[in-house]
Amino acid sequence: MNGSDRIDEEWDGGLGGVVLGKAAKALERDICDRCLGRIFARSGYRLTNQERGRSVRVVLALVAEALSDRICPGGHQLMGKLPVHSTTVGVSDEPSDVPEGDQEWNTVGDGASSPPWEVPSMEGEGCWLCHDLFDHVGELSELVIEKASGIEFSSFLIGCRVDPGTSSRENLIWKDVDPTSAEPLKEEVNRDVGKILDALWPDREVEKGNPEITFIVDPLFKQVDVQIRPLFIGGRYRKLERGIPQTRWPCHTCRGKGCPRCDGKGSLYKTSVEQLIGPTIMEAAKGKNYKLHGMGREDVDVLTLGSGRPFILEISSPEVRSLDIDDLFSKINASSVGKVEVLEPRWTDRKEIPDLKSRKVKKRYSARVIFSEKVDEEKLKRGLSLLAEGPIKQRTPERVAHRRADLVRERSLHEVDARILDDGKGEITVLADGGLYIKELLHGDEGRTKPSLASILDLQIEVESLTVLDVLDRTE
Ligand SMILES: [Zn+2]
Ligand SMILES: [Zn+2]
Repeated sequence: MNGSDRIDEEWDGGLGGVVLGKAAKALERDICDRCLGRIFARSGYRLTNQERGRSVRVVLALVAEALSDRICPGGHQLMGKLPVHSTTVGVSDEPSDVPEGDQEWNTVGDGASSPPWEVPSMEGEGCWLCHDLFDHVGELSELVIEKASGIEFSSFLIGCRVDPGTSSRENLIWKDVDPTSAEPLKEEVNRDVGKILDALWPDREVEKGNPEITFIVDPLFKQVDVQIRPLFIGGRYRKLERGIPQTRWPCHTCRGKGCPRCDGKGSLYKTSVEQLIGPTIMEAAKGKNYKLHGMGREDVDVLTLGSGRPFILEISSPEVRSLDIDDLFSKINASSVGKVEVLEPRWTDRKEIPDLKSRKVKKRYSARVIFSEKVDEEKLKRGLSLLAEGPIKQRTPERVAHRRADLVRERSLHEVDARILDDGKGEITVLADGGLYIKELLHGDEGRTKPSLASILDLQIEVESLTVLDVLDRTE
């Protein structure tokens, strides 16, 4: 029978015995007061783990003393881990070393003048579990302050990366004692570093949910990593020039490195809506990168006019958060005249992106088309009306099949109009469901869109140009 079983038994299985039994079990390894206290962290309001651990150790010492009075074979081993004995009694498995009675207690310190539990505990002597990492909390806080300098933030959180060795030692202890009331070591590190910084930064909040900045401290390697919450700025863009893709379009041959096919540019297009909007804001925010999320996208050769297309610009790792976005949008407009115009700047967050990207909203288009034979305006209008009557079954167009699932979608046209221009070309305007491919609706995509204007008119149609006249996300 070892010391911990003995205590459990002596305490008659009551709650006190459970606590002390756990403590005695945990103290079979040389752990510090904090590490001991953490096992009971969920009990004892307003106590630090260190106070908790110290208290349990002292009570345990008193109980062990009582047991050793009655010559408890395991008592000595246990007492070796207790505060008053840690400096006077070596840990030994030999029952013959069990002290007789309590003489040993009184030899500690200068005897009469000092109560036994003022003797130093294990603290600072090399804790088996934490290797005294809490001695370095101040150092870690200084590292955090260093990393934070120059970064603008109003809320923060401390996270902790515990090395695998410490983590597995913690698990070993938890295997021995029921850890239901225990707190993980990393939580105490986070709290301790957080407390120091909270006091130093009175204008900043500790925020668990979505802090502007998270510092990940690594107590073993004395490192701090910084994660800055991205900025999300919403707006609408109008694309005024054909030949500009919505986002950066890396060259497929070299994947952006630069090769003869892309003239060393790494990209197939000189610029993109993303590149016309992103850098101005990224530089103001001192961010690392930018990404444009659009409510759908138009083809490279298609204009977007009217009230523009909603987008959200994401700026990663911004060191500056207080931006004048009205001013930045004006700057973008001044530098992209004739190419892109941005409107309605607003702040938003990541949560809006999935909805923005998946929403299918109606759009109004105008198309300039060339017919393979002469068509009069009445016939064209009749054909369009027929097209608008029933649902249109559209199989994923050949040209996008490599990046979209190949399936048949059903979409509708809501309004149609047309006229024949002097040169015999047609000008067609339609109000269509989101997700309907308009070029294919007109030329038919070799039968993949049914019906199409070409199939109804029984001729061939070439789409010369297409323009998004408006994105109707606000009228639904
Ligand atoms: Zn410890
Ligand atoms: Zn290339």
